Amino acid sequence: MKSKYSKAKLAKFKKNILQKMEEINESIQGIRSSNLDVDENSLFSDNSSEDHDEGTESHEVEKNFLLMSRESDYLTNLEKALQRIDDGSYGICQVYTDDAEKCECPESPLIPEERLLEVPNATKGVFCKEKKKLNLL
Ligand SMILES: [Zn+2]
Repeated sequence: MKSKYSKAKLAKFKKNILQKMEEINESIQGIRSSNLDVDENSLFSDNSSEDHDEGTESHEVEKNFLLMSRESDYLTNLEKALQRIDDGSYGICQVYTDDAEKCECPESPLIPEERLLEVPNATKGVFCKEKKKLNLL
């Protein structure tokens, strides 16, 4: 049984991660520039002082900031994933690393390739992740 992904596979994962990072960077740029489009005067205009509605534009800005922080969190996680590729621990279920007997991933200790391509920042296999969520680990 393989306990590590081959160099060729890791290179493939790395490419996938770098591509995702690029997409996120673009998305963050997009959110930033859409924030700049918001006219500040409309946020603080006093002709709506009777209006207790917070206003859709400030709500929009808030939503964008939330989205932006989520995206940059994801970016940080992807950077960590890149580090794991470099140190060779990428794609190995964390539960296995902590306690090999507890990992019930079907390809233990490896996190399946499809999952890693879909969720490149995954540190656990789906099985272990769900068990952890249910406090079974
Ligand atoms: Zn596992």
